[in-house]
Amino acid sequence: MIGRFAPSPTGPLHLGSLYTALAGFLQARSQQGLWLLRIDDLDIPRNVKGSADSIQRTLEAFGLHWDGSIAFQSQHIEVYEYFINDLQVRELIYPCTCSRKELINNARGELHPDIYPGICRHREVKPDSDYALRIKTDFQNIDFQDQMQGFFSYDLARQYGDFVVKRKDNIIAYHFAVVIDDHLQQVNQIVRGHDLLAETPKQIYLQQLLGFYTPAYMHVPVIVDRQGYKLSKQTQAVAVALTSPGQVIFELLGLLKQRPPVELKQAPIAELLDWAIAHWKPTLLKNIQVVSCDF
Ligand code: GLU
Ligand code: ZN
Repeated sequence: MIGRFAPSPTGPLHLGSLYTALAGFLQARSQQGLWLLRIDDLDIPRNVKGSADSIQRTLEAFGLHWDGSIAFQSQHIEVYEYFINDLQVRELIYPCTCSRKELINNARGELHPDIYPGICRHREVKPDSDYALRIKTDFQNIDFQDQMQGFFSYDLARQYGDFVVKRKDNIIAYHFAVVIDDHLQQVNQIVRGHDLLAETPKQIYLQQLLGFYTPAYMHVPVIVDRQGYKLSKQTQAVAVALTSPGQVIFELLGLLKQRPPVELKQAPIAELLDWAIAHWKPTLLKNIQVVSCDF
């Protein structure tokens, strides 16, 4: 089994990401699997200097040691371009010059502006205009069984339309890059936050087009604060404090619905993690999408 944690370096690690990292770590280690670390640093405007280092330091401080060397997506641009080109040659990709405004006007309340109605599929691109690249979707359902959240079936063409694989600013879209990297790193089990569940069918579709194996998916709950807001960089979730990592892991295990014995509250972090690996029961989280955090 090969799993991975793939944070974007958009700030220090907050509790919500540490929670996902811990779940992925336990899932891998409990099966004697590998757990890789990849820094998803393609979205240059959102990258925050120094955060890749601070994420690594935080994981280390919490005893979440990864295997092998760290992969950086920014070092794989040529590989993404190779596969983009492959799909282009197969006429599965086309340039799109639509502006956000045009899409909102076009939708006129009937369609969600994020569901692309295929305007540019048959439109000539004006020379010198900026364009995104979109992938053609068809009316074929994408079905998958999430290991934690159950069965899902999506109609890509209806629910998303042709989606972007390379943005107008020339940045490779998230979906495209993760699919390529997970394939190259032979990741066969993806553990990540529930907020990414609805992105999964797009990724499975890309895997199918590229002839890649589809990994198993496990979407763990997201942590919300007392007001019910997801802990994320957008809500200015605070970076986790490194002063008492054992206590934080103990609390996070509780939020993962595991039941570490109270004696372990003061135990060294390695001992606590050993207990958690030996007793990891992801089924206790079945069908839970959100957990609220009050510490
Ligand atoms: N880099 C993505 C993020 O930070 C997660 C990638 C993934 O797990 O698929 O949201
Ligand atoms: Zn367009």
